[in-house]
Amino acid sequence: MKTTANTLLKKVYGYDNFRPLQEDIINRTIAGKDSFVLMPTGGGKSICFQIPALLFDGITIVVSPLISLMKDQVQALKANGIKADFFNSSITPQEENEVIEKAIKGDIQLLYLSPEKLINVSSTWLKLLNIKLVAIDEAHCVSMWGHDFRPEYTQLKTFRRSLQNVPFMALTATADKSARKDIEAQLGLQNSKLFISSFDRKNLSIEVRGQVPKKKKLQEIGNFINQRKNESGIIYCLSRKNTEEVASYLKKEGHSVTFYHAGMNFEEREQTQTDFINDDVKIVVATIAFGMGIDKSNVRYVIHYNLPKNLEGYYQEIGRAGRDGLPSETILYYNMRDFVLYSQFADDGANATMQKEKLNRMLQFAEAKSCRRKILLSYFGEHLTENCNNCDVCLNPPKDFEGTVIAQKALSGIVRMQEKDGITMLINVLRGSNNADIHAKQYYTLKTYGVGREVSFFNWRDYIIQMANHGLIEIMYAENSALKITPIGWQVLKGEKQIRLTTPIEKTEKNAEKKQLKITSQGETNTSLLAELKKLRLSIAKEEKMPAYIIFNDKTLKQMASELPTTENEFLSISGVGTNKMEKYGDDFMAVIRKYKNVAKPRKQSTTLKTFELYNKGLAPIAIAQERNLSITTVFSHLSQLYTEGKNINLAQYVTKEIIEKVRVVFNQFNRKIELKPIYEKLNEEITYSEIRISITLILKEN
Ligand code: ADP
Ligand code: ZN
Repeated sequence: MKTTANTLLKKVYGYDNFRPLQEDIINRTIAGKDSFVLMPTGGGKSICFQIPALLFDGITIVVSPLISLMKDQVQALKANGIKADFFNSSITPQEENEVIEKAIKGDIQLLYLSPEKLINVSSTWLKLLNIKLVAIDEAHCVSMWGHDFRPEYTQLKTFRRSLQNVPFMALTATADKSARKDIEAQLGLQNSKLFISSFDRKNLSIEVRGQVPKKKKLQEIGNFINQRKNESGIIYCLSRKNTEEVASYLKKEGHSVTFYHAGMNFEEREQTQTDFINDDVKIVVATIAFGMGIDKSNVRYVIHYNLPKNLEGYYQEIGRAGRDGLPSETILYYNMRDFVLYSQFADDGANATMQKEKLNRMLQFAEAKSCRRKILLSYFGEHLTENCNNCDVCLNPPKDFEGTVIAQKALSGIVRMQEKDGITMLINVLRGSNNADIHAKQYYTLKTYGVGREVSFFNWRDYIIQMANHGLIEIMYAENSALKITPIGWQVLKGEKQIRLTTPIEKTEKNAEKKQLKITSQGETNTSLLAELKKLRLSIAKEEKMPAYIIFNDKTLKQMASELPTTENEFLSISGVGTNKMEKYGDDFMAVIRKYKNVAKPRKQSTTLKTFELYNKGLAPIAIAQERNLSITTVFSHLSQLYTEGKNINLAQYVTKEIIEKVRVVFNQFNRKIELKPIYEKLNEEITYSEIRISITLILKEN
């Protein structure tokens, strides 16, 4: 069978279909042309250069600034049976030499390098390699206009010039139009084609909760997590102090939680990341410094404890949830204090006007009364025609009503307070509160005192902010947030203009129920079996010292738990199971499923006998595999079984004496336990599973 992108997708990754654009990008790359790939986090960028890398007979260079990510990505590739390695400042000189040697021997398909290292070695051993493709990940780092400029990236152009005929691929999740032009120029891309995929992450629910007092906010978060025990989540806070406070509150409530911020030393931060990735800690409360180098696919929720500074940051941060495509939740808490604080920061910083404008857009999003996903995506230049039905506004649409009278009450309150006070004082006056400030200013004598008792404090706040959004009033942040009436506001006050308000969005419980329904209705999975499968995954992960989601991600386990595969073919049909993982882990996972289903392992009798027939006709194992559409390893396992049963098979012809002896030593070391994987690893992955199986079969039959 001819190896094509499609067959590799199934065989190596276990996926049935390409996502939009992936195939086009792959084809263009194979044709030797440059591409610019703009896809959201979790959109599936990696496959765009990995599959061409597998199709080329040479090496693919992947440049990435995220050193902590490289190891994970390389592990994930290896788990799928791909020869990958990385070369960055985290490895020892000896490891460096090993990588160089392998690369020169042509024994690496994908080599990940940090830009520093690449520049370092580009005129030495890198010149000796048969480079067929260069992928520049996080390509926005080359642009000074971007938010994450890395000076080393600017030297990549020289590298590009030295490889005129090799296709280059730039990949990023963030770049507006002007940044894109800049990136192409800086990297020296030639006639590159731009591929932009939708930035809509449908599996993320969006919810915003405004003006929640601190104590209640903590309680709400605590409850939310309680209902999602054992799920991973990130909580983003504005300040370092906040991260520690929130983490300590949640810890007291008995949650598996830690904090992360730039004030911690390198080792502490590394440890926190590793613990999170390996599921040793479920929740990280962090400043936005956390997450760049994290590729964890099973983050089930992201909570913003404060208002983010802009929608770019917000979208990137919520994008860390649900990379595996399963429904995941995001909640944004905000209050006016965050906004005021940031406005002040922005005043002091560079680009003050632009930053403030971005902050305003952020606030408008938080206060919006129409589909939030529409607003968010339109900010990034993508226009949805339908409402999303997966944001708090869609799930609980606000109703609008004739609000002129309410607005007039508030406006006349402002007039009588001579436009000197802020929202809280205004509400207290309208509601006829009895506090010291009111007494000090004698506001109880005002005509408007108590005219709005029937409306709750929170609803008043909501209405007043709506009035500000409609341009009736202005909040003067530079003057203690005093409220001033605009010309439109005067028109409303005088009855020359009508105004419609919307009922405040009802929070939490109701929405939570609706979301919950959405989540559970997506296919029945058996929770107790799923828990068993997760347990097995974790124990393998610990044993192999790699993150659990690299073995199988949550989505794959869920599908196993609902489809209950117990044969190799069924197991291979699960999305995310390629042949390598099938061989390595299939038996273990199917054993759990069989136990659950209470079925015995299917007897291979008939199928091994078919193999035997073909063997007797004189077909070589590879021909049998082709004839029967089986993998070669399966055929060898049949032949071994037949040999053990005493059939006349010349098994020894498939291995050398040398291999048998190597296997024998390790097999004995492991007390003759028939487990292929440990032996495979002990032998540095140099002897195939089939050869190990055959050797063991021969050894056991010796006496
Ligand atoms: P990005 O690099 O764009 O953030 P990844 O390449 O890490 O995203 O892909 C995100 C997830 O989607 C990974 O788990 C990946 O295996 C999965 N994925 C990518 N392409 C497909 C596909 N065609 N079918 C199913 N899953 C896919
Ligand atoms: Zn919506």
